[in-house]
Amino acid sequence: MTTHPAPAEPAPDPAAVLAAIADMRPPLSLWLDVAARRALAHAKHGARSIEHLESPDPAWLPVLVEEIGEVANSLTYDGHTTGIRDELLDVLAVASAWIDAIDRAASDGA
Ligand SMILES: [Mg+2]
Repeated sequence: MTTHPAPAEPAPDPAAVLAAIADMRPPLSLWLDVAARRALAHAKHGARSIEHLESPDPAWLPVLVEEIGEVANSLTYDGHTTGIRDELLDVLAVASAWIDAIDRAASDGA
């Protein structure tokens, strides 16, 4: 069976992307919250911090799923977390750390 590569998508026009997101909440404050969450978690977990993980590593998915589970728990009647926003920040913190690890691995291999 012959496979064909997917057609390449044209690179987005940066000006069009900026125009498209202009009405969205400025993302900088959100990403500062995520960065702060990562720093706090790193300080809390020390040598076991996910910031030490590389990519690929089998530990990423369980950590991310745990955080997603905490989002779900925050929606239950006995949820005892600090709130869904904080739990979603944890999800973003883990996801962004994982993406950083992927990007580091890619740049190390380049
Ligand atoms: Mg959490």
